Amino acid sequence: MSSDVVVAVDGTSGSGKSSTSRGVATRLGLRYLDTGAMFRALTWWMLEHGIDVHDSQAVAAHAGDPFIESGTDPHAPSIHVDGIDVAGPIRSEEVTAAVSPVSTVPAVRQRLLELQRAIIGTGGIVVEGRDIGSVVWPQAQVKIYMSADAEARAARRTAEHDHLVDVQATKDVLLMRDRIDSGRSTAPLTRADGAVHLDTTHYTLDEVIEMIVGLVQGESE
Ligand code: C5P
Repeated sequence: MSSDVVVAVDGTSGSGKSSTSRGVATRLGLRYLDTGAMFRALTWWMLEHGIDVHDSQAVAAHAGDPFIESGTDPHAPSIHVDGIDVAGPIRSEEVTAAVSPVSTVPAVRQRLLELQRAIIGTGGIVVEGRDIGSVVWPQAQVKIYMSADAEARAARRTAEHDHLVDVQATKDVLLMRDRIDSGRSTAPLTRADGAVHLDTTHYTLDEVIEMIVGLVQGESE
């Protein structure tokens, strides 16, 4: 494996991208970037500042305002906006419901694309998102497209919460986000050219990590 390797992990919401990407980065001693957290952080800032997230012009006008910092340690990924630790707040239901509309705005994508490319820099990183292999870093040496049945994804997401949440409602939100993410005109969620498709429905986290580690190690052989 070369030290400048970039592993692009794209896929639907709840397909297991985050746990898998962190696990792969940890196993291989690579950095880790959660680009979804960046879209969530920007969305959190819009909500905090009373900006109507469905008004794309207003969102575009403020896309450059928040100062976003992403930590890339897979053991302790961090995200700050204007110096505030937002790792908790960006996972709220309010942000989750607003993030896909905000992510359709081209000015938002352009802003974050520049930040993402600067962080990837000389590589040595696992990057997860929706458009990493297709737009952000098409030259990535290893590209993965992860998916899983909606039932399995909703059950996993429900299990992540410490309070009681409705599986059907969770599934509805996931499917709605899939629709917006796949249907937008700028950088839609898609299987990138050359991406290996992993359907994780019937595999454990460790099995999926193992498969990707094998692909990365085999890449330079
Ligand atoms: O991965 P996560 O579910 O946290 O991503 C939140 C949202 O951010 C996605 O539903 C999508 O709308 C947006 N996103 C994106 N492009 C990325 C990563 C996330 O549009 N590369």
